[in-house]
Amino acid sequence: MSTNPWLRERATRTAFVRRSVSTFMPGERLEDAMAAAAAQQKQGIGTILTKLGENLTRVEEAEEVTRHYLDVLDKVQAAGLRAQISVKPTQLGLDLDKALCFANLQRLVDRAVERDNFVWIDMESSPYVDATLDLYRSTRTRSPRVGLAVQAYLYRTAQDVESLIPLGAAIRVVKGAYLEAPSIAYPKKADVDENFYTLCCRLLADDARKGGGLLHIATHDPRLVDRLASFIDQHRIPTSAYEYAMLYGIQRSLQQRLVQAGRPLRVLVAYGEYWFPWYMRRLAERPANVWFVIKNIFA
Ligand SMILES: Cc1cc2nc3c(=O)[nH]c(=O)nc-3n(C[C@H](O)[C@H](O)[C@H](O)COP(=O)(O)OP(=O)(O)OC[C@H]3O[C@@H](n4cnc5c(N)ncnc54)[C@H](O)[C@@H]3O)c2cc1C
Repeated sequence: MSTNPWLRERATRTAFVRRSVSTFMPGERLEDAMAAAAAQQKQGIGTILTKLGENLTRVEEAEEVTRHYLDVLDKVQAAGLRAQISVKPTQLGLDLDKALCFANLQRLVDRAVERDNFVWIDMESSPYVDATLDLYRSTRTRSPRVGLAVQAYLYRTAQDVESLIPLGAAIRVVKGAYLEAPSIAYPKKADVDENFYTLCCRLLADDARKGGGLLHIATHDPRLVDRLASFIDQHRIPTSAYEYAMLYGIQRSLQQRLVQAGRPLRVLVAYGEYWFPWYMRRLAERPANVWFVIKNIFA
């Protein structure tokens, strides 16, 4: 459903859907996201800003997105916010021209260096994984101010992580949000969860940390959050080596619990008009969300 244009056209005009999406994003404008970042900062929570959108068709659009993020990095510094940015390679033109995408990413990382900030690269669906790893590697050789998301549901990720560790990589481990075939991704949730734990432990190991690595534990799964907290305490891993990362509006009580326990936390705040596919993936992650929407549509 996230890729269905007919549904997107209709659903985004429905008042209830527009209202219910506000659970997951404070507003469509950058100003809304920055206000949410300021509120989070008061609670001791860092932010990751992301403008929704993917799979562009014109080079001009990639330029527009790049300029937008350059401006975000300027505005974040001017506002004194502790907010990084996270970008999708397809938003920077990966489908159109890989060299252009790399150049756009490099412009963002250069600006992040100037503004004492950091750029995260999202991982999209499986056909983009190799190109995204290439992008990361070539950007990382020029600056450490860039990190990469990897998906625990893919069988290949353990090997990819091994190849990234010697680079001193900042890695965000996520479970993975796209529909992938069992030939390349664990079909059982329990296996994805276990792989998530194993990958995070690997990235918290001495050799991974000594190379300057940073781990983002990006999950709302309380079991994994607590299991990894025990691992961290047991191995006396410093708070400079990791951060928990969650999405705006999801598991707020768990977010508060982490902050109260002195754990570093960042919350990703999404904004922009192109929220439909992203919203559908958030619904798909939790059947209760779908029932909530259906009930309200029929109410
Ligand atoms: C900071 C961040 C960045 C991400 N970047 C990427 C990326 O680059 N590429 C990518 O493929 N994926 C990305 N994701 C999404 C990720 O892959 C998962 O789809 C998403 O985090 C849901 O999985 P989970 O780990 O929270 O665990 P799950 O096992 O799905 O959920 C655990 C519990 O969390 C709660 N929960 C989870 N999702 C929801 C929801 N939508 N609504 C309400 N409650 C919910 C529920 O209580 C659920 O029982 C990112 C996620 C985060 C937090």
